[in-house]
Amino acid sequence: MDSKIGSLYIVATPIGNLGDLSSRAIAILTRVKLILAEDTRHAARLLSHYGISTKTRSFHDQNENAEIPKVIHMLQNGADIALISDAGTPLISDPGYGLVHAARNNGINVSPIPGPSALIAALCASGLATDRFCFEGFLPAKPQQRLQTLDRLKNTSRTLIFYESSHRIMPSLQAMATCFGMDRIAVVAREISKKFETFYFGEFKNLIAQIGQNPVNQKGEFVIVVCAAPDNDLELDRAVGLLALLVNEMPVKTACKIVAETFRVNKNKLYKIALQPGK
Ligand code: SAM
Repeated sequence: MDSKIGSLYIVATPIGNLGDLSSRAIAILTRVKLILAEDTRHAARLLSHYGISTKTRSFHDQNENAEIPKVIHMLQNGADIALISDAGTPLISDPGYGLVHAARNNGINVSPIPGPSALIAALCASGLATDRFCFEGFLPAKPQQRLQTLDRLKNTSRTLIFYESSHRIMPSLQAMATCFGMDRIAVVAREISKKFETFYFGEFKNLIAQIGQNPVNQKGEFVIVVCAAPDNDLELDRAVGLLALLVNEMPVKTACKIVAETFRVNKNKLYKIALQPGK
């Protein structure tokens, strides 16, 4: 690495509790030449809390095209620069992708300073499967597009994670119930790491009732974590296992009917499997 070239640091900041800024983040924000901030006034509150007096400059979706060449030029001339967003990890439903992409294309070192992100905070405390998950960010604002997006996701056999704001939490929960079914389990994480942190857990019908009954429950910031759809291959394996036992005890058609209803798999598919030699 050319020592004359500066580094771009992607620094995660708290999602609510100011105490969640890491000591490494504080050190980097203190020593860089410039902090690019989504909102400089918002950043000022965090920086003054930690006594950091580094110069800040506004960097957001509206000015990034104009700012990126200037920032790249500064980095190429040896300045170390940090990027922060209003909360959490920059680039995660926040500005910065264009800058990091440009920095990489220009051979500039980009180094993450890991820390809070609402999606990981919600997932790890949700009680839903964490081994495989799919982050979907914000759903489209228009009802029709929202339903179309959810419809495409309804059979995803991994945990789904969405961001949502207070004014769209109820419409989004309703739309999810429509597409995923009222009985699908989900977790709504509200105001993580803040005074009114609340986790709602249950089937969509219960979540809608619980959050809908009181407007206070709809205030703040939300992450919705949705239980994966059943893994169809795994369900079919289990269904075929039961079928193999039942066909020895009753007519094939009856066995297929029972297994199809139990596992909600296609009866005709089971019938074909049952008639295969060796089954
Ligand atoms: N970059 C951030 C991150 O790493 O989590 C996300 C920024 S995005 C513009 C803001 C959304 O993140 C909110 O609308 C909400 O869905 C979620 N979020 C942020 N802070 C949260 C918190 N304390 N509790 C629950 N959700 C939060």
